Amino acid sequence: MEQLPAPLRAHARTLLGPGPSDVDPSVLRAISLPTVGHLDPAFLQTMDEIRSMLECLLGARGGRTTALSATGSAGMEACVVNLVERGDRVLIGQSGVFGGRMAEVARRAGAEVTLVEAEWGRPLELEALRRAAAGRQFRFIGLVHGETSTGVLQPLAGLRELADECGALLLVDAVTSLAGHPLDVHASGIDALYSGTQKCLSCPPGLSPVHFSDRAIARIGSRASAVQSWYLDINLIEAYWGGPRAYHHTAPINMLFGLHEALRLVLSEGLEPRFARHELNAHALWSGLEALGLELRVAEEHRLNPLTTVSIPDGIDDAAVRGRLLSEFGIEIGGGLGPMKGNTWRIGLMGSGSSRRNVHLVLSALATVLA
Ligand code: PLP
Repeated sequence: MEQLPAPLRAHARTLLGPGPSDVDPSVLRAISLPTVGHLDPAFLQTMDEIRSMLECLLGARGGRTTALSATGSAGMEACVVNLVERGDRVLIGQSGVFGGRMAEVARRAGAEVTLVEAEWGRPLELEALRRAAAGRQFRFIGLVHGETSTGVLQPLAGLRELADECGALLLVDAVTSLAGHPLDVHASGIDALYSGTQKCLSCPPGLSPVHFSDRAIARIGSRASAVQSWYLDINLIEAYWGGPRAYHHTAPINMLFGLHEALRLVLSEGLEPRFARHELNAHALWSGLEALGLELRVAEEHRLNPLTTVSIPDGIDDAAVRGRLLSEFGIEIGGGLGPMKGNTWRIGLMGSGSSRRNVHLVLSALATVLA
C-alpha cells in the first residue's frame, strides 16, 4: 500500500431508513468503555443484567433469553436450526422479503416448507394459514411480526391456538418490532423469537436478542440429532450465558456494553410510553406525507409504527431523491426491496430516532427535494 487511508471521521447523518437507526450517545459511550475479559466476573454480571432486562422487555417467563453474537439473520438461523431436524415439516408465512428468508433458511436446514403467501403490503390471514395447514402437524409455524420490506405489522392473535392445533411451536421474527411495538412472548404464546439491535433498540448492528420458551427448550432437548450449527447451538451458548460459564466463543464484549445501556434506556423510558411515542410520531409522519400528496403503501390498520412505506410518485427518480436527501440534508431513507424496488421509499422512525424533530426534518427535506 503506497499511502495509508486517512483515519475515519464521523459523518453527519440522520438515519431514517429501515435500519440501522441512530445510536444514542450514551450507548456509544458504553461501547467505548475499556474492554474486559469475556469471563471477567464484572462482565458476567453485565451479561446477567442484559438477560434480565431482555426478559423484562419481552415479557418472558422462564425459557431462555440471550443475545447472540451476530446479526438478526443469525438469530433467524439459530431459531430454525435449533428447532428443526432434517425432514421436519414447517409452516411459514411470507408477506415480504424476511418471511422468504426464513423459508430459505428452513429449506437449507433440511425442513420441508409449506409456504403461505400474502400480497405484499398486507398481513397474513389466520384462515389462510389454517387452510394451508390442512390438519397436518408441523414442527413450527413461523412468521415476521414487523415486515421491514413492506411496513406491515402482522397481528399475532390466534397464532398460538393454530400452533396448538398443528402440534407446532410458534416462531416470530421481531427484528423491527422489538421495543417499537407492544410484544409479549408469554401472552402471545411465542416459543422462539429473534431480533436485532440496530432498529428500535438504537444500538449498532451486530447482536441478536433471542428467546426460547420452556416448550422450545424441551423440544431441543428431545432432538435425535445434534443441532446442525455448532456456533448457534443454544445449549452450548447457554453453558456460557447460564450455569457453568464455560468458554464457547469470545463474546463481543463492547457491543454487549452497548446493548446493556440501550436496554437500560428502553426500560427507564417505560414500555408503554415508548410504544406510545412510536405511535404518535408515526401518525404525525403519515399525516405529513399525505399532506405532501404522497400515498402510503399500507392501509392504516396494518401499518408498522417504526417503518413506513411510501409510493414514489410517477416521474420521480428514486435514487436521485434519496441521493439529495443524503447529500443536502444528511438524511438516509431506504429504497424498496423485491417488487417494491424503485417504486417505494421506506422511512424509519425507530428507537431514539422516533422523535418529533425527525418527523419535521424528513418532511421538510422531502418537501424541498420534491418541489
Ligand atoms: N428480519 C427482519 C424483519 C429484518 O428487517 C432484518 C433486517 O433488516 C432481518 C430479519 C435480518 O437482520 P440482519 O440484517 O441484522 O441480519
